Amino acid sequence: MVSETMLEKISAPARRWGVGAAAIGGLAGGLVIALSACSSEHRSVTSAAKTAAGKIHRSAKASPTSKVNCHVRKCIALTFDDGPVPGTAQLLDILKANGARATFFVLGSQVEGNSDMLKREAVEGHEIGNHTFTHAKLAGAPTAKVETEITHTQDAIKKVIGKLPLVFRPTYGATDKQLDAITKQQALAQILWSVDTVDWRDRNTALIKERVLKGAQPGYIILMHDIRPTTVAAVPDILKTLASQGYAFVTISELYDGQLTPGGKYPPFLGSPTAGPAPTTP
Ligand SMILES: [Zn+2]
Repeated sequence: MVSETMLEKISAPARRWGVGAAAIGGLAGGLVIALSACSSEHRSVTSAAKTAAGKIHRSAKASPTSKVNCHVRKCIALTFDDGPVPGTAQLLDILKANGARATFFVLGSQVEGNSDMLKREAVEGHEIGNHTFTHAKLAGAPTAKVETEITHTQDAIKKVIGKLPLVFRPTYGATDKQLDAITKQQALAQILWSVDTVDWRDRNTALIKERVLKGAQPGYIILMHDIRPTTVAAVPDILKTLASQGYAFVTISELYDGQLTPGGKYPPFLGSPTAGPAPTTP
């Protein structure tokens, strides 16, 4: 199923919504949440991509020491895909006001023109992840295409924030053995999700809030999109409610205490009840 829609304030000439691999998440406590894919977009590779070439080789290093011990605290990782966009500023204001960190899976094609926003995300303590350059589906794609989508985005991000991302989110959560191998080679862990808010489809602030609050469990990864104003509007209540339940809002690397394995999948599959670490005592 593909439907056309307008996209807020994004300069791309065309944007197509697609539905990718759907999955059902059997969550702890018997709660079941339907998972689906996020938005897709297709745009031509810009000059930024054309200037980048070749493969990146580097050693896989653990992230810096965690600020929050997720073996002791109830942690949750909020993730926002498909930006940065000008509207990301409002979300950053909200996160800052609530002392919350998040992870932004950015599109390489969005970096040019929004580099100040990307820099702000990093400076304010959030983690930056790779979400391909053009929102291409990489599972089943030709090897050269997969490498280009990943390395050009790594290069574009490094140019702005001074370091390479350690985390990669496959579009639609779709991955395969080739993507496992290439992300391993690029020292990137593949980050899936525990709860999909389906906010790309349902532009309903109350519904997004309800899905996050009902689905939240310690160690979980929540999928949202900072390009959706209806999602950003849900974040203040999400933060306040989960904070009142004792949750700490951490980045992906922090959730896993810097122990992510390149090429590995976290959680192991979409909606897996085995997510990040959770406190061993109530
Ligand atoms: Zn996406």
